[in-house]
Amino acid sequence: MKALINGKFIDKDKKIDVINPYTNELIDKVPICTRDDVKIAISSAKKAQNILNDFSAFKLSNALYNAYENLKDEQKKIAKMITAETGKPIKDALFEMSRSVETLKLAAEESKRIYGESIPLDAGLGGKGFFGFTQKLPLGVVACITPFNYPVNLAIHKVAPAIAAKNAVILKPSIKAPLSSMMMAEIINAEFPAGVINTLTGRSMEIGDELTINNGIAKISFTGSVPTGLMIANNAGMKKLTLELGGNDPLIILKDADIEKAVKGAINGSYLYSGQVCMAVKRIIVDNIIADEFIQKFVNATKKLKLGDPSKMDTDIGPLIDENAAKIVESSFISAIDNGATVVCGGKRKGSFFEPTIIDNVSPKMDIVINETFGPVSPIIRVNGVEEAISVANNSDFALQAGIFTENLKEGMKCLNEVEAGTVFLNKQSTFRTDNMPFGGFKSSGIGKEGVKYAVEDMTRTKLIAINLR
Ligand code: NAD
Repeated sequence: MKALINGKFIDKDKKIDVINPYTNELIDKVPICTRDDVKIAISSAKKAQNILNDFSAFKLSNALYNAYENLKDEQKKIAKMITAETGKPIKDALFEMSRSVETLKLAAEESKRIYGESIPLDAGLGGKGFFGFTQKLPLGVVACITPFNYPVNLAIHKVAPAIAAKNAVILKPSIKAPLSSMMMAEIINAEFPAGVINTLTGRSMEIGDELTINNGIAKISFTGSVPTGLMIANNAGMKKLTLELGGNDPLIILKDADIEKAVKGAINGSYLYSGQVCMAVKRIIVDNIIADEFIQKFVNATKKLKLGDPSKMDTDIGPLIDENAAKIVESSFISAIDNGATVVCGGKRKGSFFEPTIIDNVSPKMDIVINETFGPVSPIIRVNGVEEAISVANNSDFALQAGIFTENLKEGMKCLNEVEAGTVFLNKQSTFRTDNMPFGGFKSSGIGKEGVKYAVEDMTRTKLIAINLR
């Protein structure tokens, strides 16, 4: 595929291969864009943003609705590309696409609801006779930098709200899985003036760096790992920032939990897209009283999962994004076992596949639960009672989402109040998101919220108009 700059498809002699992690076959090549390409994209995006600024909300919303209809028509084709480039099982890729389509529709709706407010300036000392109101104005050009794991949904959560707020965007997808989001961007591009949406592929240290430092960018909306997020924050200067970073989400299962429900939550939370999800269940914190029963049922359910070809509808677990990612998971697993954890099931790696793996007797001090382990490993930490469960859950640098299972409302409420996370669920695992909800973590999990309404708000700046009526 080609890069998209100012409405034109741009190719380069130098290209990067995009490889199918299941078949190891070449899917396509994408151009290695340069710093100069970024500069050209930014200046054309600025001009396009001026044109977009003249759109009425009515016209803008209709254009987003048209893009939504077209994306809906193409969703199966793009889902197949997600599976090819990420190894995500097709049933999960189809769900990612239906959520992406929904996200675009939410943005079309939200683009008509960008309101200011009237401000009672006379409520302040010296304000008598003044009338004030605010306007929500676009920021300018927004850089959207996205990871490999939900290539379309995470990109559209930035691109669609940015355009809904009349910004132009430059999308820099992950080089590990750029194609599906480039297909999405082409569909949106068809409905807008040239330069409103641009897609650049290439080396992060060159084009990612230029997007981060260039003062033509008004805001960086980044989703990815903590180290990259920190690097971007250090280099961004005065740009507005949204950072959606890593997670290490706890699943707390208390003694009064409905164990069948908790097992379902643990299966989905641990193994969806082989655990390569920011809000995956990464630490299972179980009360000792029910731990053996829970583990037995969890193992039985885990053994039923089908590993294999991600393009088949009945496949539950595909490969990780590449063999290196699987090796990193394997080495965290080996280190936990060397330090006293015990294998309950799984533990084997074959190429880029890593088996769904349950390990028991994990201590909160082990690296496997201190760091974000981006793979299908379920570390079980046994605790005694609700107080210890909360303390273990909160003993983390991350705080994205959390799930608690109990039928005891008093203990459930205590957890909802005391567990530190951007979202805390009762009787649902952390691996859950609707596209309208405010989404984003605390601590090292990031800064700011996404979810269409909240992202649109973040894509604007507030201007006060004040009139002296005396
Ligand atoms: P990553 O940090 O390696 O890459 C993310 C993006 O940043 C890619 O497009 C990459 O090319 C780009 N990048 C890398 N170096 C850069 C630089 N110096 N300047 C500018 N851009 C640069 O992350 P990944 O491996 O693709 O994704 C996995 C990570 O993302 C995990 O930590 C996961 O938890 C996190 N994630 C978070 C959320 C969330 O919403 N909080 C969602 C999905 C994934």
